[in-house]
Amino acid sequence: MSVPSPDGVLEIDLSALAENWRRLKDLGGAAECAAVVKADAYGLGLDPVARKLWAVGCNTFFVAQLIEALALRAILPEARIGVLNGLVPGAAGLYAEQNLIPVLNCLPEVAAWQAESLHRNTALPAFLHVDTGMTRLGLDGEEQARVSADPSLLSGIAWEAVMSHLITAEQPQAAQNGAQRDALAAFSRLLPQVPVSLCNSSGIFLGRDYHFDLLRPGVALYGVNPTPGRPNPMRPVVTAHLRILQTRKAKAGETVGYGGTYRLTRDSHIATLAGGYADGLPWQLSNRGQVWAAGHLVPILGRVSMDLMGIDITDLPPDALKPGDLVEVVGPNRPIETVAAEGQSFPYELLTRIGKRYHRLYTTSDSTA
Ligand SMILES: *Cc1c(COP(=O)(O)O)cnc(C)c1O
Repeated sequence: MSVPSPDGVLEIDLSALAENWRRLKDLGGAAECAAVVKADAYGLGLDPVARKLWAVGCNTFFVAQLIEALALRAILPEARIGVLNGLVPGAAGLYAEQNLIPVLNCLPEVAAWQAESLHRNTALPAFLHVDTGMTRLGLDGEEQARVSADPSLLSGIAWEAVMSHLITAEQPQAAQNGAQRDALAAFSRLLPQVPVSLCNSSGIFLGRDYHFDLLRPGVALYGVNPTPGRPNPMRPVVTAHLRILQTRKAKAGETVGYGGTYRLTRDSHIATLAGGYADGLPWQLSNRGQVWAAGHLVPILGRVSMDLMGIDITDLPPDALKPGDLVEVVGPNRPIETVAAEGQSFPYELLTRIGKRYHRLYTTSDSTA
């Protein structure tokens, strides 16, 4: 792999990203497929990710925060942008001016958006979020009852969709999935003609009954398996490599890293990698995780430090690795799911933490995207 000589290289395959969006869209049939790009597109870079998805036909994007929405608006002047965390108090005018669409999560937010609409003499667009089991965001049961009794509480707003969020979408057998779907469908009758949105990545794989009108995938776009326990239907998007800074011989009985938590049981050959927990590799990988080096899986020895970690290359041919070589910590031989499990984390967390310090390399793996 030809790189200058950064200590860590994060390769992001934009063709695979685009292909994943298309696969999800195709699964959804007639439903529109949005893209969730919160948290800097799950750590992979909002700008290139959003531009790529827009270029292949994605029109609707969701972010969590107003600040993310403003960044995205500067990148994509025409996109439909939903803000999942809702209306920031005092900022309604800014949403309206920037054509940002709040996901309204409670009746006071609905009232604030109605007031802004009145002020501007137009019905401003919004998504309405109803809580069907997450107990996190969205109209709670009491608010839903108030609205059912008096649907005029929702008047004066141009509803783009009514949405809810699944809590166990990655478990197809969970009864909660159907219950949430039915609760959303029932509530949505209060807003006839308004599109309905339920599915995150895993939800899309629950089948047609769940798709409604608008899909909201995030993690699957970035190659994480939305069907845990079954083969990954997505193309991998992310590869992370770390550079070897030094290799050294060490004697049986010596220890490796902070705290001396690993004592060598044989004379060993150790390579020191230029990455650690500040590069999103969980500290829990200490003495537990593995990396892919020169075509072999090799163990991490000792504690993962902030910027460094040791690996055992004793069993590789003596000249297999030298300082400057790159080893794979996430990628085709080290799926995110596997590394997350070894690090007692989970794929979403690993993905969103990994992007910060690496040199990012955006690639296109084929000519079709
Ligand atoms: C983050 C988020 C999504 C995307 O979820 P994934 O599991 O990453 O596909 C969709 N909807 C809401 C409300 C979210 O917060």
